[in-house]
Amino acid sequence: MTEHLIVEFFAWTPLTAFVIILAVVYFATRREGSAAAVHGKTYACAQCGRRGKHEHMVPVTHEGAVVWYCGRCSNR
Ligand SMILES: [Zn+2]
Repeated sequence: MTEHLIVEFFAWTPLTAFVIILAVVYFATRREGSAAAVHGKTYACAQCGRRGKHEHMVPVTHEGAVVWYCGRCSNR
């Protein structure tokens, strides 16, 4: 009975470890991808250089090019 359980445990361990490694790799890749997506959506303030998300930044046309100001600098 106990021996059977031990044999079954060792038969399943490599498969379980493989699944866990796959899950870890999957979540690590996913987190990296979402972090890159968030990074791509941030803008540096043209005035103070502070980085902010798209919805917190104000576009200002400056010499024909659009620059982004943060909430504090756009109110000045
Ligand atoms: Zn600013």
